Amino acid sequence: MLTLETPVQFAKGIGPAIAKTLAEKNIATVEDLLLHLPFRYEDRLNPRALSELKPGEMASVIAEVRGAALLRTRKMPIFEMTVGQGISSMKCLWFHGTWLRDKFQPGQMVALFGKIEPSRSGRGFKMMQPQIEVLPDGHDDAMDRLLEVGRITPVYESLSGSRLASRWIRRILWNLLEEMKGTIPETLPAALLARLNLPGREQALRTVHFPAAGTPMSQLQAAATAAHRRLIFEELFYLELGLEVKRRKFQEKTGVAFTTSEKVRAALREILPFHPTSAQKRALGEIAADMRRPVPMRRLLQGDVGSGKTIVALQAMLIAIENGYQAALMAPTEILATQHYLSARRVLEKSSRHYRITLLTGSLEEDVKRLRRRQIDDGETDLVIGTHALIEEKVEFARLGLVVVDEQHRFGVLQRFRLMKKDGAEPDVLVMTATPIPRTLALSLYGDLDLSVLDELPPGRTPIVTRQVPDQRSDEVWGFVRGQVARGHQAYVVYPVIEGPKDDQPELDFAEPETEDESAKTAKKSARKSKTDSLFAKVSSRLQLKSATDMYERLRAQELSGLRVGLLHGRLSADDKEVVMRRFQRGEIDVLIATTVIEVGVDVPNATVMVIEHAERFGLAQLHQLRGRVGRGAAKSYCILMPGGKLSPLAEERLVAMVRTQDGFELAELDLQLRGPGEFFGTRQAGLPDFRVANLVRDGALLELAKEESARFVKKAGEEATPEEKARVWSRLKEAWQRRYGLAEAG
Ligand code: ADP
Ligand code: MG
Repeated sequence: MLTLETPVQFAKGIGPAIAKTLAEKNIATVEDLLLHLPFRYEDRLNPRALSELKPGEMASVIAEVRGAALLRTRKMPIFEMTVGQGISSMKCLWFHGTWLRDKFQPGQMVALFGKIEPSRSGRGFKMMQPQIEVLPDGHDDAMDRLLEVGRITPVYESLSGSRLASRWIRRILWNLLEEMKGTIPETLPAALLARLNLPGREQALRTVHFPAAGTPMSQLQAAATAAHRRLIFEELFYLELGLEVKRRKFQEKTGVAFTTSEKVRAALREILPFHPTSAQKRALGEIAADMRRPVPMRRLLQGDVGSGKTIVALQAMLIAIENGYQAALMAPTEILATQHYLSARRVLEKSSRHYRITLLTGSLEEDVKRLRRRQIDDGETDLVIGTHALIEEKVEFARLGLVVVDEQHRFGVLQRFRLMKKDGAEPDVLVMTATPIPRTLALSLYGDLDLSVLDELPPGRTPIVTRQVPDQRSDEVWGFVRGQVARGHQAYVVYPVIEGPKDDQPELDFAEPETEDESAKTAKKSARKSKTDSLFAKVSSRLQLKSATDMYERLRAQELSGLRVGLLHGRLSADDKEVVMRRFQRGEIDVLIATTVIEVGVDVPNATVMVIEHAERFGLAQLHQLRGRVGRGAAKSYCILMPGGKLSPLAEERLVAMVRTQDGFELAELDLQLRGPGEFFGTRQAGLPDFRVANLVRDGALLELAKEESARFVKKAGEEATPEEKARVWSRLKEAWQRRYGLAEAG
């Protein structure tokens, strides 16, 4: 008997070899296969008549093959086919179509899907490169006829070339559903489904693959049928339920109940270098309220670049310290940790109390690290600032009360810092992020975190002027930089790579997935031409890429000669980085040539120009972060985007958006749409699950619904679910979370 957990290998029509191919696509069980949903549908029940087609539209057409030929043009072979319905006919063309030769006979019926274009003669239409499937005629396999003719037919993303294409998937799925009829267990309480008007699981699986005649095509294509909604809801419900459970479990743990007496508040006031914005006050108020409670805090502090998160975090850490606890701040890079360390010292110096601050980063000398670890362990320090080393080097704290994690999206999931505490109460955790996560996503995905938002910039900021300037006008750009320096300001110039063609190392994670895609596409295209070609394309694109090191040499010798120019990148030693950063901060460097190491957090208010060369190589989030390095003081600031070379449409869209708006949330929304949630959150490291059927950009409303319903289920499951249903939900949750996140803790 097949169950959902049965390995696919045992399903009819799949042997060990195919199972292996499927495993590469993350399809291991029967359930995985059933959740491989069609990516579109064709209405072969009411196919379109050739006579009613309009140019520009995408259309499904069923027609008869009238004739076909392979044309050899000078550029490439083109396969041309004429199809017809009665007296109407249409041409279909496939470039490089040699492989289609001999596949068709006149009289065959074919289903076509593609874009309708006017034909060259001006009369009638043609279809360029349509998807095509030969329809089974009466003599062919009865099953294919059943699944493909006279119904709404599902079209699947092929699972492995043409071998496991739509037709194969249809048959396998049909057989599975027939064989398992009446045995697919329900995972949601019946009353819940009834209230939300959603179908049962088995019915949803069946109709999502084989929709009933009459289902509106627009709903099918938008994944908005009841069957789709049911499956998407289920997936999101279990995500949200897991988050809800985690959050509640947390609330049961014992944390530190800090006090915020007048003495503590006085200490906080003493260090304030400026009047906090009302958003900063509100956020600190929320954090302090959490910290007073005996439950561990798990809070996300979200604020656009420059919104002033640092001082809020510092004040929170003082609350812990004034209560006799230690606080730790973890930053994503050594540069940033060092900068936090320096600025914390500067700010805390003003206090009459003597706070003991320790810096701990991976690249310190071994014996220095050992010493500092001991100080932390012995309680001889109040505030520890560091990088990942804090986790990796098994630091133990004497009395850790609060952990602040800066720029969380670089770090990944929270469970990494079960951390560092010896015993006693669970420390509070505050996560800071400048990634303006669209609000509904933040609320729903970080369902186990509370959220504070800094939605206001400190006063006195003038908007940053952003311009896209072509390479040919770089002289003007360097002239402008000189002008700003002459007025006593400083500038950044950013490059995508550290060194030139000999050793083309991208900095950190600059390689955007989109660029990868593009180069993959280019590579594919040129592979068709020849291997040498593609090699050449790669080499030449590298040769053209300016690097921080080369441009540092050149700019200080030529365009920026006479100015004090510095170089900063990730491959400098920690000491060198610190020296360069300090000199820039003190104004001893006018122009800092850098890679994206300066992307996060670097704070030098006197810098007013950000020049980004090869701006097309950076993602939107990165560009926004980089721009956020300027506009931090009262002086007017500028961001100059210099693309080097041809722009892809996507790159163009990013740069246009950068020029248009400075609103981090707006840019984040766009970024999310351009890249999809996985890439948006920096892939897996953000702990974001790979969804099987849900799509966070499309399914925001269902996500909200799932969040509400999961909270309601936890609170009063008794109302709606029978004891068996409840038991099934909990065991399903455990399974789902174990599989998805490798977490055993959710149950
Ligand atoms: P981010 O949120 O990007 O980490 P920072 O905390 O680095 O922002 O703050 C950006 C700059 O704004 C810093 O120079 C900081 O000193 C300054 N700043 C923060 N809050 C205020 C405020 N309320 N008034 C004036 N300046 C502020
Ligand atoms: Mg910051």
